[in-house]
Parts: sequence; C-alpha cells; structure tokens
Amino acid sequence: MSVILDRFLRYVTVDTTPDESSSATPSTAGQRVLLTMLADELRRMGAADVAQDSHGYVMATIPSTVAHAVPTIGFVAHVDTSPELPGGGVKAIVHRVYDRRDLVLPDAPDTVLRVADSPALEDQIGHDIVTASGTTLLGADDKAGVAEIMCAAEHLLSHPEIAHGPVRLAFTPDEEIGRGADHFDVERFAAVCAYTLDAGECGELEIESFSADAMDVTFHGFNTHPGYAKGKMVSAIRMAAAFIEALPAHVLTPERSDGYEGYVHPHGLNASVERTSVRLLIRDFRTDALREKESIVERVARSIVAREGGRVEIAVEQQYRNMREVLDRHPPVIEHAADAIRRAGLEVRMRPIRGGTDGSRLSFMGLPTPNLFAGQHNIHSRLEWTSAQDMAKAVEVILNLSEEWALRAG
Ligand SMILES: [Zn+2]
Repeated sequence: MSVILDRFLRYVTVDTTPDESSSATPSTAGQRVLLTMLADELRRMGAADVAQDSHGYVMATIPSTVAHAVPTIGFVAHVDTSPELPGGGVKAIVHRVYDRRDLVLPDAPDTVLRVADSPALEDQIGHDIVTASGTTLLGADDKAGVAEIMCAAEHLLSHPEIAHGPVRLAFTPDEEIGRGADHFDVERFAAVCAYTLDAGECGELEIESFSADAMDVTFHGFNTHPGYAKGKMVSAIRMAAAFIEALPAHVLTPERSDGYEGYVHPHGLNASVERTSVRLLIRDFRTDALREKESIVERVARSIVAREGGRVEIAVEQQYRNMREVLDRHPPVIEHAADAIRRAGLEVRMRPIRGGTDGSRLSFMGLPTPNLFAGQHNIHSRLEWTSAQDMAKAVEVILNLSEEWALRAG
C-alpha cells in the first residue's frame, strides 16, 4: 500500500543487532550493511553531500528551496535494534484493517497481541498493524524512524515547491548499547538543532530525559581461612549485602518509582570476601537531586563500614544529563515541533523519558535534540508493533517541521 510501509518492510529484513562485546563501530557488520544501503538510496534520490564516515555514520543534506536564510535543522534515527532479543530473520506481518481482534503471531502461537495488554491499540482501529512473527523483534525501534526520515527526504527532494531551509539527515549505529552519540560529528552535521525520531505514540514530543550517573561502591574486607577466622575475618560480601539491604529506606528503587521520581538501582555485583563491588545506577530528572542521592549512598556505605570494619571506595561516573537543561535555552526548537505536530491534526503529548536517548547526549554536545514519535510500541519485545498510518503521520510531521522553520525565518 504505502511508500512508507514498503520502505519499512525492506529495512527490517536487515539484521542490525549490535554487539556490546565488540569495540568496533559499528559493533556489527549488519549495521554497516543497512547504513550503506541508506547512503546509496539517498544518492539515488538526489540528496546532496551524502557521506558515510569510517564509523558508518551516514549524513546527507536536502538543500534549501527558498531564497531567504533559514537555520539548518536535522533529523536523526538509529539503525540498530535491541540486543536483548533476536533481530535476524525478521518476518514482518501486516495485519490489515485492525478491528480490535487478537493478533496471533504464527511462529509462536502463544504470543498474542491483545488490546487489553496494549491499550494504545484502541487508537488503531482501521489501521494496518505491523508485527514480527513471534520469535524475533520487529525492529520498529528504530527502523520506523529510519523509514520515516527516508520517506520525508524523498518527498522533499521530489517536491521542490515545498518551502524549506537546509535539512540535514543522519543515521547512526549502536544506540541500543549506549554508543550512538560517541562518534557523531556535531561540527560536520552543522545544524542548529536536530530531532530524533525514536518515540512511541502519535503526537509524542519528548524534551526531558533522566540525568544519569553510575556509582561503583567497593567494600574491602579481610579474608582468612574460615575455620580459624573468629575475630579476624571481615567479609566484604556481608558489608555489600547490608549496604544493599539498607538503601531502600533512604531512596526509591526502580520497581517503586514512576513519573518524575528518580531511583537508585543496584545493577551489578562482583563479590568475594576480600573485595565486593556494587555497581549502582543513579537516576533523577534534576541533576542536583542526583548529587543528593549520591551523598545518601555514600553515607549509607560509610555507616556500614563504621559498623563492620573494613573500608569502602566510592567512584562516580557521569553517564548523561537531562536534555531539558539544554532545550530550555532554545524555545523555538520545541515550539516549532509542537506546531508541526498540531498541523498534522494530532495532539501534542509530552512525557518525561525515564531513560536517555541519543538526544540527551547530542544536546550536551552542542546539538539541541528533542525526540519525536516514530510510532513504535512494545519496544524490545516479541510483541513489538507499529502501524503504517502512524508512520505516515510521522512523515507528515517531518515535512511540517521543515516548512515551519522556513516560515518562521521568513
Ligand atoms: Zn530507539
């Protein structure tokens, strides 16, 4: 049926699962296959400055169609899919004209997409829903975003009567393993702002993410033969256990927090009697609240040492920051996006991201980058789905947004 669907169905057949254990960029060859495919397609549709750098990142330009100066804006999507589930051998299924029926995925008949479990399906009556076949991801995160940007590019390039300024495009690898922004050349991209297409429901505009740190709390004990340890052994394992046990009385945990609440999450443990290290993820929407949580963690750790003996080492590693700290200084970036969504006949939905995006990193690298809906649902799951109509709406928003910046600069 639609151009967007054809494109999307083609891209999901390329296995772009990243590999955290690889230090290469892209971390897997499949990602480079899709990135190269995108570069070739962009050249064929007549985009300017199409380039793929040594890390696989693809950038291109849709030249301005107006005489007046318009700020350059960008659109960004990631080609990789979640490493948590298989992303190869994807058999996408189009369930035409959705009518609230259960969608049974044929390769794993116990895998059923039901409106009761996925309330967003209520808005999809009459739409064409796309799922995988039950054993793999679909890869709508973020191949929906990739297909939408490519479709919008093709439309803009073949309709020079649409008034817009210079539009830059970028496709990136390894977002799902937290490296998507690592080699993003912000200077070469040379845009005043960008929009990632990597969110869920129609109308979503995400402008705030967590601020995130990781902490390593390492307890040092004293090991000796356990049969003759009375009065001598200090167990780092017991210290770490007491520390983890004491935390929830002072801070929230992931399983007890929601909305704008942050948390402290013991995430990994490396244990021996002599030395036990606890890795913690610290999350909050306010960066200063992050510091408060870290000092609480430190206080609890030191109180354990005061009671049990031994000693503790504490290291804090900065991960990413709430992009709102940057975006609040660039109101037009948000305003134009909201206008573009409304012009597509949609309601603007703003919700804090309880995580990070490439945009959180890019914003702090000098490229303010909020996140727009791409129509992805049940991401990182075998029940992942999108719809052709939602993807078409996202294309419309990209076109509107390109026009909006030219209009406002006129
Ligand atoms: Zn994504």
